[in-house]
Amino acid sequence: MITAEMTSAERVAEFLRMQRGGWYCDGCISESTAVEPSNQVKQITRPLALTSDYQRADSTHCNRCGRYRKCIRMRLAAA
Ligand SMILES: [Zn+2]
Repeated sequence: MITAEMTSAERVAEFLRMQRGGWYCDGCISESTAVEPSNQVKQITRPLALTSDYQRADSTHCNRCGRYRKCIRMRLAAA
């Protein structure tokens, strides 16, 4: 659950955890978590994508907007 007390990074991580396995672009993550602008989301997702719990795709179908964009997801096997 995303709460008002969470930091931006926590909101993004929690959103991806709740939607585990689904691909989301930075713009949709921004709208879903109220972390704005999407550039701030990009700064959060970039380091996440380097960890083994997340996966980055340069062009894939975003689960929310349906466009082909640079997306990130939490791996199903992530803790
Ligand atoms: Zn999207």
